[in-house]
Amino acid sequence: MSLRQTRQKITEILKNPAIGSSATVMGWVRTKRESKAGVAFVEINDGSSFDNLQAVVPNTLADYASLVARLYPGTSLQVRGQLVASQGGRQAVELQVESLEILGESDPLKYPIAKQKMTYEHLREFTHLRARTNTFGALARLRDVLAQSIHEFFHQRGFIWVHTPIITANDCEGAGKAFQVTTIDLAKLAASGKAPDFTQDFFGEPVNLTVSGQLEGEAYALSLGDVYTFGPTFRAENSNTSRHLAEFWMVEPEMAFADLEDDMDLAEAFLKHLCRAALEQCPREMEFFRERVDAGVIDRVKNVVESPFTRLTYTEAVEKLKSSGETFQYPVEWGSDLQSEHERWLTEKVYQGPVILTDYPKEIKAFYMKVSDDGRTVRAMDVLVPHIGEIIGGAQREDRIDVLTSRIQEMGLSVESLSWYLDLRRFGGVPHAGFGLGFERLVQFVSGMGNIRDVIPFPRTPGHAGI
Ligand code: ATP
Ligand code: MN
Repeated sequence: MSLRQTRQKITEILKNPAIGSSATVMGWVRTKRESKAGVAFVEINDGSSFDNLQAVVPNTLADYASLVARLYPGTSLQVRGQLVASQGGRQAVELQVESLEILGESDPLKYPIAKQKMTYEHLREFTHLRARTNTFGALARLRDVLAQSIHEFFHQRGFIWVHTPIITANDCEGAGKAFQVTTIDLAKLAASGKAPDFTQDFFGEPVNLTVSGQLEGEAYALSLGDVYTFGPTFRAENSNTSRHLAEFWMVEPEMAFADLEDDMDLAEAFLKHLCRAALEQCPREMEFFRERVDAGVIDRVKNVVESPFTRLTYTEAVEKLKSSGETFQYPVEWGSDLQSEHERWLTEKVYQGPVILTDYPKEIKAFYMKVSDDGRTVRAMDVLVPHIGEIIGGAQREDRIDVLTSRIQEMGLSVESLSWYLDLRRFGGVPHAGFGLGFERLVQFVSGMGNIRDVIPFPRTPGHAGI
């Protein structure tokens, strides 16, 4: 039998404990304790579940003393034995060990995550090992459940998953935020003292990593109806905040024959679906987040599932903020972008639940958003949630070619390079709408984690691109 044919996952054993039968488990030691009576209790985790399996090693085992002496946090091992009902302890079952083989040693003096209590900051220096801790193991499983549920949600509704490019010549959203991609030898260029010639670069023009798949998503929505993208996105955000990464995953649905109300309805149903999935499929992880990360997290997540989202306009929100009597670090005036402190005050203090703000001033939003009849606002919507602030940004798109063209010009963008995008209005344009959800902000919301760097396996932030 191959290794994998021999092995049983701990999650299966804990779910369906076949008391009295034998089992082989492979994993890593979390803790070891020796009793005076001459047995060792070893907590084993194999990553398949939050909970460990307790292995009881009797001192009658051959080489008992030397084997047990080599077991430390991080040691990998294979154990075979009988599953027996557990006396006390967290689990109903434990493994009465009949054979034990050490697969890989772990020097307790050198193992960087040997200590019981370590700060998230400390663990960020060991992103290659931190998934072995309770918190980061739980986050990895939560991320997986949420990602699968995203595909499930759209698949159930007939949305087609579209793979949009990562390298693009579009530089439409906020210039300056994109990472340029080049094969020009920069050291050589600097030494030559010449200006770069991008016609000689790999693509024959300047290109960058995508900041959003939306524009390409629109092209497919205007062919296929309902589509979504789910992929990595890159923004050279220079601010060191707890909710911005330089590399993050974004989900962007785009619907043809849809308006702003449809967009809000989709966003609300989507967040409800994802929060429900987390509660149903990660109960153990959620309980842990509530106990150890943030006591309010389950209530907030349930609140998303159970209560309707409050919907109001940006203008109404600004009035609330101005008459609030609160002192904010940044003052609020109609026309200014809302800061995270304003967003959080609205969703946490005023409405105590998710809020959808609509109809933002056109000056602070992207060129492709549909201009309203008032001429001052666009059909934009942002979804705000407690603990995070903005989690989703979306809009009904401008479908009138003349208005769109003048918006492109007003914003100083190139009509020529967006000619393909204008084609989507030139030939069979339709009302359409969509939004972008930052996947890590979602994981942050659902887990209650304070810093976005801790909800992605290998975070990329200013000054940090190593492991
Ligand atoms: P913010 O004002 O918070 O920077 P934004 O207005 O730049 O957000 P959008 O361009 O609307 O955001 O992007 C859609 C979504 O992507 C946001 O609602 C957010 O969830 C997420 N997002 C944006 N920038 C980042 C980032 N740097 N890191 C992680 N998620 C992000
Ligand atoms: Mn931003």
